Amino acid sequence: MASKTESARDESDDAPAESTDSESTLETARRQLHRAAGHLDIDQNIVERLNYPKKVHEVTIPIERDDGSVDVFTGYRAQHDSVRGPFKGGLRYHPDVTRDECVGLGMWMTWKCAVMDLPFGGAKGGVAVNPKELSGGEKERLTRRFAQELRDNIGPNQDIPAPDMGTDPQTMAWLMDAYSMQEGETTPGVVTGKPPVVGGSEGREEAPGRSVAIITQLVCEYYDRRLEDTTVAIQGYGSVGANAARLLDEWGATVVAISDVNGAMYEPDGIETAAVPSHDEEPEAVTAYADTVISNDELLTLDVDVLVPAALGNVITEENADAIAADFVVEGANGPTTSTADSILAERDIAVIPDILANAGGVTVSYFEWLQDINRRAWSLERVNDELEVEMQAAWDAVRSEFERSDVTWRDAAYIVALSRLADAHEARGLWP
Ligand code: NAD
Repeated sequence: MASKTESARDESDDAPAESTDSESTLETARRQLHRAAGHLDIDQNIVERLNYPKKVHEVTIPIERDDGSVDVFTGYRAQHDSVRGPFKGGLRYHPDVTRDECVGLGMWMTWKCAVMDLPFGGAKGGVAVNPKELSGGEKERLTRRFAQELRDNIGPNQDIPAPDMGTDPQTMAWLMDAYSMQEGETTPGVVTGKPPVVGGSEGREEAPGRSVAIITQLVCEYYDRRLEDTTVAIQGYGSVGANAARLLDEWGATVVAISDVNGAMYEPDGIETAAVPSHDEEPEAVTAYADTVISNDELLTLDVDVLVPAALGNVITEENADAIAADFVVEGANGPTTSTADSILAERDIAVIPDILANAGGVTVSYFEWLQDINRRAWSLERVNDELEVEMQAAWDAVRSEFERSDVTWRDAAYIVALSRLADAHEARGLWP
């Protein structure tokens, strides 16, 4: 994801930020909190509590490099809120990881889990390191040492990490192994996104793309469009983009454009998505299979029914929001629309279905994985997909009724649903002592 500009804004400054294109992740998360709170009659003390993380762990991680030298990296785990259940969120390995970014992304996870009504709170963590500069052995040592440093603060009932940028199922398997070795018992539920052979769930990898496709189908239904008459452009052909594209294609939509970092394939009559390898199957191969290549910028402004940005953050901006020609934007990536662009699209009556709902299939199947782990019982792929559909429909129904009741944008409706659930839980539990 394109890194969002880090701001020098102090953590203690809790006023909602101005909506700008250079907003940091933390500012965005706080601004959304205050926007949603403005629509609800909730105790300001609860809003004040949600404005801050519960805890942020900062650790140093020394590792021995392959040449025998020692390097020390900094790792974080920001635990935002756990009123509804254990903290949940990814661990990323990226040079731009900072404390504030983890706090902001942890807040997003709180909203995402709440809008999906999952019994989890929000967290995010990571190590400020370039994983491309680590050998496999170095990455394993880094992960095991990070797990050890965080051991007292994670666990199936405390905080459950998952893969994110720069980490993958293998990283989660090492983390689970390191934790289990120290605990003296195999504890698969400490992380999700593991390989199925050590307690990972079937369908986890495809889940964010599947939820994007399900939500796109529900949007079309809501606005009386037949999927068979719907054209779709999708930026990014990785885990989220390719899975969403293939499902929508299979369900009858016409996918006219897909892209990777090199550019976009454009077929006005529809792309046979199964014939184009995804990022995972053959990295950055989309344009090699294309007869007509257009740029990623052109893809974003195609006159289609549905636009799915599923590659990077901050791609729909003040610069191009006026040129977006789609009727609906379904956010596959995290944070693809800047705040300013969001306001422009709202003024232009373009419905934007927010990331915290559309791509939440990932954390939802992570929840299923955690259930399978603690119950020691694996589910079939069919069961995972059926239950995901049920959860997506329920979340959609809740957001749709808020959208209709409050006459707000889809994004605001999703945040209002999330915040009201959080506020009710805080209200019921009270402030201790
Ligand atoms: P991925 O690495 O599998 O695929 C990314 C795709 O984007 C690739 O096709 C790549 O070529 C393309 N891309 C990279 N840079 C680009 C650029 N400058 N312009 C156009 N395309 C570009 O990643 P992913 O897992 O599919 O994640 C995509 C987005 O979805 C990210 O924002 C991620 O945070 C978000 N997301 C992922 C998951 C998940 O579990 N995979 C869950 C929720 C949200």
